[in-house]
This record gives sequence, C-alpha cells and structure tokens, in this order.
Amino acid sequence: MAEPPITLRATFSDTVRGGNLPITRVVVHATAGGQGYPRESRAGVAHSTALYFAGGQAGGSAHYIVDASGAEEHCVPDDVVAFHAPPNQGSIGIEICADPSYTRDQWLSPQVWPAVQAAARRARELCDRFKLPRNRLLPANLLAGQRGVCAHVDVSNAWRQSTHWDTGPNFPWPEFMAEVNAAPAPVPSPVPSEEDDMPQAVSAHVPAGGELVFAFPPAQGGAAGWGRAWLTVIADRFGREGGNVSARIAIRGGDGVWRAAFGRDMTASLAPGTPGVIALNPGDNAAVFSDTNGDIGACVEYAKA
Ligand SMILES: [Zn+2]
Repeated sequence: MAEPPITLRATFSDTVRGGNLPITRVVVHATAGGQGYPRESRAGVAHSTALYFAGGQAGGSAHYIVDASGAEEHCVPDDVVAFHAPPNQGSIGIEICADPSYTRDQWLSPQVWPAVQAAARRARELCDRFKLPRNRLLPANLLAGQRGVCAHVDVSNAWRQSTHWDTGPNFPWPEFMAEVNAAPAPVPSPVPSEEDDMPQAVSAHVPAGGELVFAFPPAQGGAAGWGRAWLTVIADRFGREGGNVSARIAIRGGDGVWRAAFGRDMTASLAPGTPGVIALNPGDNAAVFSDTNGDIGACVEYAKA
C-alpha cells in the first residue's frame, strides 16, 4: 500500500519533506477531547479533530486521526515531522478519537472498538511500508533504539519531554496488537476441504523479527494417521527494495532434535513470491524465524497416511 492522500493538512507541523525519515516508530494516541464515553469516539470526531488541526488554533498535530465510524483523516505527510509526541522526528502519530480514561470494557465496546481497529489497520500498514517490526515498544525498548509501535505515554516516560499519558492505563494492548498482526491470506494453500483424505493447511504470517513454531500434526488434525506434511515458506510482499527475504527455518524431529532445513546454517534466502518447500516427517515440528528485513508467510500442509 502507498501513503493515502492528505485529507486536511494540519497547520502546526514541520514542512520539510523527508525530514521525518527514517521512520522508527508508530505512536498511538487518544485525542482526549473531554467529551467522555462514548461521544469522544463517535462518527464525525475524526473530521472535527482534523478541522481543528487545520484551523491554526491547535498547538499540535498528528499524521492520522480515526474514529469509531472507521473514518480516517490524514493530516500530515508521513515523511514530514508532526508535533504529537516529542521527540517527534522519525515517528508517525495516529490519534484515536477516545479518552485515555476509558475503561477496558469501554475500549472494547462497539462504540469505540472500531476506532481501535482502524488505528491498528493503519499501524500495520505503516509497519509494513516502513519495515518496522510489528512489536509493542515499552520505554526501555524506545531508549534502546528499538523500532515498532508504542503509545504516547511510552514516549513521555522514555524521554520526559511531555506529560501526556494517553492512550491510558486500560488501553487493550493485547487486542490491539493482535489486530496489528492480524494475518492476511498471502500464503498459497490448498482449498480447505472437509474430507479427511485431502491435504489440510495451517497458514500463518511471521512478521519481521518474529518467530513461529508449527506442531505436526496440528492439534486440530488429530493425533494419529497423518502421514505426510510439507512446510511451505514464502517471502511475503516486503522484501527490502524488492530483494530477497532471509528466514531461518528449523525442523525439530520426533526425537526432539532440531536440524537444519535449508543448508547448514538453517537460513533460506527467499525470493519474494517463490516458495521454499520442505517435507516433514510425522512428529516433526517446524520453526520459522523471520529476519528483520522482511515478512514471510508460512504454511503447513498435511495429509492422511
Ligand atoms: Zn497523545
């Protein structure tokens, strides 16, 4: 995906194109407009907040604003520094129309959750476009120079340049990060079938820097009678500059011993779109580790003996 067009340009931001590069983090905010639950999140607030940013009265700005209608405003080009969570350079701010005092139940309620989902979709797209790990960052991670997704409060606690505490203590991080990491369906797999003798597939997405272990046979496949399996690993869309994506892949046999799957260093260099296929033996587990320069999709197919 490419950057979406600007909908309403915020007034109070930097102006230098490219000045925000390289992007190192996505910072999630709550607008804290004082309207309370659930008015703060309702349809139209993203637009009214964007109008506020554009009107010259606001002392800050953010790149994106989302509300519970799913509407999104884009107010500052991604490569321009916006003033949302200092130090701002290298970060992209997403404002969720919400109050940081929301309870967990309120965050997860139908009146608010679609705004969280919309923010997660944008965070995911930004992580993918700027090659950021889809990981949550805490202040220690930020200070260590790690890249990923955090809240305004994490930036505040790391560098003490702001006292803002959004997105607040009850923000549903597990659910949000699950949405950020929600698997697309990029992995070629056989057509699912209810028939026992047809190959079945378990697909998953391994984000950059992530790892995943497949058990074989998969739990839902039953304990006995599964005779053949293949692990298919395919570089997803995000090979850096179109180059290969490297993955480390290991197979753990029924004896519990890990062995290399490709070559002696367990590293496969995968050209985007070209799958690597490994035959598995009954009882094998397969582990896939994505290196930091791109995402991969992984799929285990298995069939009855
Ligand atoms: Zn904030």
